[in-house]
Parts: sequence; C-alpha cells; structure tokens
Amino acid sequence: MADAAPDAVPHGRSTQHVPNIEEVHILWITAGLSCDGDTVSITAASEPSIEDILLGAVPGLPKVHLHNAVLAYEVGDDFMKFFHSAARGEIENFLLVVEGSIPNEHLSGEGYWAAFGTDPETGEPIKTTQWIDRLAGKALGVIAAGTCATYGGVHGMKGNPTGCMGLADYLGWHFESKAGLPIINVPGCPVQPDNFMETLLYVLRQLAGLAPMIPLDEELRPKWLFGMTVHQGCDRAAYYEQADFTHEYGSRKCLVKIGCWGPVVQCNVPKRGWIAGVGGCPNVGGICIGCTMPGFPDKLMPFMDEPPGARISSTLVTPYGFLIRNLRRLTNSTLSKEPKWRHNEDERTTGYHPDKPEEAYPL
Ligand code: SF4
Ligand code: SF4
Repeated sequence: MADAAPDAVPHGRSTQHVPNIEEVHILWITAGLSCDGDTVSITAASEPSIEDILLGAVPGLPKVHLHNAVLAYEVGDDFMKFFHSAARGEIENFLLVVEGSIPNEHLSGEGYWAAFGTDPETGEPIKTTQWIDRLAGKALGVIAAGTCATYGGVHGMKGNPTGCMGLADYLGWHFESKAGLPIINVPGCPVQPDNFMETLLYVLRQLAGLAPMIPLDEELRPKWLFGMTVHQGCDRAAYYEQADFTHEYGSRKCLVKIGCWGPVVQCNVPKRGWIAGVGGCPNVGGICIGCTMPGFPDKLMPFMDEPPGARISSTLVTPYGFLIRNLRRLTNSTLSKEPKWRHNEDERTTGYHPDKPEEAYPL
C-alpha cells in the first residue's frame, strides 16, 4: 500500500470529498457478455472474504447489502426490485459492479445482445446497456470486475459480431461517479478473488471516510495490485536469469520458450497465488497468457508460441546464463564441502596459534 498517495489518481483527476456512508448496496450486473466466472471466483476470496464484508467482520465499514444474481437468495421480481428502485433514485447509496463486456447495441439490429430483467410495463427485456445508463450516474462508484468488463476480453476479439467493449470504453475513460471516483478496473480472466475483494474493501473504506482517493494507474487498475510484472513475482525467475528454459510442460524451469508472457504482463497472481496463497499460473506450470492486459487476447496470440520479444531477450541472456550457471555450479560444489580442518586427527590444522590468535582470522 506504499503507493497509495492521495494525489495518485489518473487522467488529472483531483481527490474529492467522499461522504461518510454508513450503509451501501452493491448492485452487481452479471449480464454483460461473460461466463459469470468473476462472481464464482470471488467466492474463494479470503482477504477479505465476501462473508467478512457482508457480516460486518471488518471494523469501520458501512453495512453492505450485495445483489448479485448468481449469489442471491431472491429470484425474479424479488431480486430485480433493488435495480428498479436504484434506477428510480430510491436507493441513495450504492456501488455498481459490472461483470462481462458491454455489447454495442447500435449493431444489434432489431434484437439485442444482452439484457437483464424485463420492463414491468411493456414486458420487454431491459438491455444491459440501459441498466448501465440508468445506474452509473447515480452510483457512488462503478467497478468493472474481470477482463471482459474492464477491456472487452475474449468477447472483444477481432472478428466478433457484437462490437463489445469494456466499461470505460462505454462510459468514457474520464467518467466520474456521484462521489467523484473514476471507474475502477480489476482485470483478470477470471479476476483474482482477493484482488477484487481487496479493491472493494478499499472503496468501502473510502466511502466510510477512512481512506484517500483510490490510487489507479492509467488503465484504471489499482496501482498496488498491478504495479509489478508476473516475471518479477515468479517462482521460476531464477531459471530465466540463468537461461535455463524448458521446451516441454512438466518441468520446473522457466516457461518462456513455450509461450510465457510474464516478463511484460502486469499481474500479481504469482506472488499472491490463487486461493489462500496457493497456485498462480507460472508457479504451478501454466504459461502466462496476459489475461489482465488491455491487449488481451489478440495481442498475445498465438498462445503457446514463444513471444516475439522473448526470442531476443532469451537469446541475449543465454551466453550470460550459461557462464553464470556453470560458475555457480562450481561455487556450489565448493560450498557443499566442509572446510578441511574439521577432522579427528592429532594435528590442529585450523590456523589457530595460542600466541597469535588473530592470524587465524585477521580483521
Ligand atoms: S515462467 Fe514466465 S514469468 Fe516465470 S520466469 Fe519464466 S518467463 Fe518469467
Ligand atoms: S499470471 Fe498471466 S495468465 Fe495468470 S492471471 Fe496473471 S495475467 Fe492472467
């Protein structure tokens, strides 16, 4: 959290006063183009868990009510009434979370790409984009959960029919919520559970008047979560440095030759792990395909080929790595032997002389 300076906001925004909120609803739309994987993912969070937030286990936070179609007990109108109330302006304090990419409904002809609930008067489906239009301007904060909602993700690949996009592409990158917050992007395919919940915790603390403006980078990601590359946190980084590359799966060596993009991808998953500190793509044998990046997936394909830039860097590091690896092997074999004066013989060979003890270890 060392980067969390109050003025660390992107696009020239200034820190604004955020009221001290005591109760807040989270309206979570899972009806973008998605697989609901981000909702499923956050059920594994532990720093904090959803239960910690909803049951008030974290001191100082507002009382939180979560409305997420996958996790809710209510169904049908009983579930939808909170969204309709918020759209009418009857719920003053709420956060809007969007999961899934936002389709371009200008391209959907007479139909629609994505919808959520129905209009009580007409019985017609309400498009996801209509919900975003109705709710975003009234929300205290707007959070995009997962790579589809942040940057378009897999649905936004070249050649897709829906023309879908991320939330900031839809609302504008300079969007500000009612409380003066920019859109907050928490990418990942799916989002890393604790990354999302820690971001939500920060926003709730900010709404409670306990934290300064959330520090985001230019791509609207929390700086403290996305400031490092995968490579900088990877368990295999020492193998890379020694040019010890594997060409097949199942090895403990560096995966760059079989397609790992870790050196140029911002993600903390190898450091943080996936669930309760365990896992984290390259740490457990999976190449990093850059799923947190705005250019994902098109700019990182074809997967499983050596990234073009890596051919240069891995070639350059090879002679250095070969030399260093062998020198280290030599040093290691020396360190693996005990000093020769440790023996059970009559003669003392430690270098100690009673008259000149300092000669054994001159300072
Ligand atoms: S496996 Fe990937 S992230 Fe890990 S050291 Fe190799 S290139 Fe870097
Ligand atoms: S390590 Fe790479 S593939 Fe894994 S979550 Fe992070 S960005 Fe995605």
